[in-house]
Amino acid sequence: MLILMKQGATPEQVEAVCARIREVGFVAHQIPGAMRTAVGITGNQGAVSPELFQHLPGVAECVPVSKPYKLVSRETKPENTVIDVRGAKIGCGALQIIAGPCSVESRDQIFACAQVVAESGAKFLRGGAFKPRTSPYVFQGLKDEGLRLLDDVKKQFDLRIVTEVMNTETLDAVAQVADVLQIGARNMQNFSLLQSVGRLRKPVMIKRGMSATIQELFMAAEYVLALGNYQVMLCERGVRTFETMTRNTFDISALLMIKHHTHLPVVADPSHGVGIAWAVPALARASVVAGADAVMIEIHPDPDRALSDGQQSLRLEEFEKLSKQLARLQDLAGNAS
Ligand code: PEP
Ligand code: MN
Repeated sequence: MLILMKQGATPEQVEAVCARIREVGFVAHQIPGAMRTAVGITGNQGAVSPELFQHLPGVAECVPVSKPYKLVSRETKPENTVIDVRGAKIGCGALQIIAGPCSVESRDQIFACAQVVAESGAKFLRGGAFKPRTSPYVFQGLKDEGLRLLDDVKKQFDLRIVTEVMNTETLDAVAQVADVLQIGARNMQNFSLLQSVGRLRKPVMIKRGMSATIQELFMAAEYVLALGNYQVMLCERGVRTFETMTRNTFDISALLMIKHHTHLPVVADPSHGVGIAWAVPALARASVVAGADAVMIEIHPDPDRALSDGQQSLRLEEFEKLSKQLARLQDLAGNAS
């Protein structure tokens, strides 16, 4: 249920509605809008009776939300959510580029990447310290040492750090360094991890599970918003299909569905989406045209020697070229959504 307040409803009236929601045992979510404030209700098992609220001062109307995803839905909040990550905004119409290696491997490697990312004008550096790998016998990330390197690089360059948190045990340590907490595809339905990041007040990027439907991705985000963390962006990174020529099937249509059905920013990850370096630039460009708010690109100073995902990582000079193209393209496309 969504309670729409009248235009000009006072903060006290909004608070009184929230208090009533809590009094009857539900959770209230204030959703400020351009024209008027709405208050979302979660925590209810069945339908909520509008009679409980519609007579309260300042209430315009009570509308049921038909979708199973309530707080992330555009029905609930028509305006785009804009996430301000230390001054760099995602979701406001200007394209953000997130680039960096799959894994943080050494000081030289992450600093070389950061230098090129910063010089290109991008504001976000990615890099995994804790890596979810299919095989237990391959590189699992530098872990705490990787976090220290990310912290050092963050101090040296004016870059925001996007890095994966794999479990609740390491969440505090990762959250101290990360500006954006990445929930990986394999953890998209790790509900206790989603709830733990929901209790933080820090931007979160949820990657689509490799065989998750778009609606399941929305429901994952709903877990985080339901606990009061509204700074969530969604990432399309390809899904597993019958196709074997590409690593995954990059679902460009998901970018459109996310923008249409939710108010959350959308990030495109063509690197994992296709898994082949030469195909990444064209899919990155296509993502910008399709309306992505951010594009995430894996890069490496020496992809042939990368400890993870070298086959899909762009060389630093290839990334420099791509970042210029993406900027020009965004000017042309003007994200005409
Ligand atoms: C990554 O971003 O390096 C990663 C492991 O991604 P995903 O969870 O999408 O596989
Ligand atoms: Mn990777």
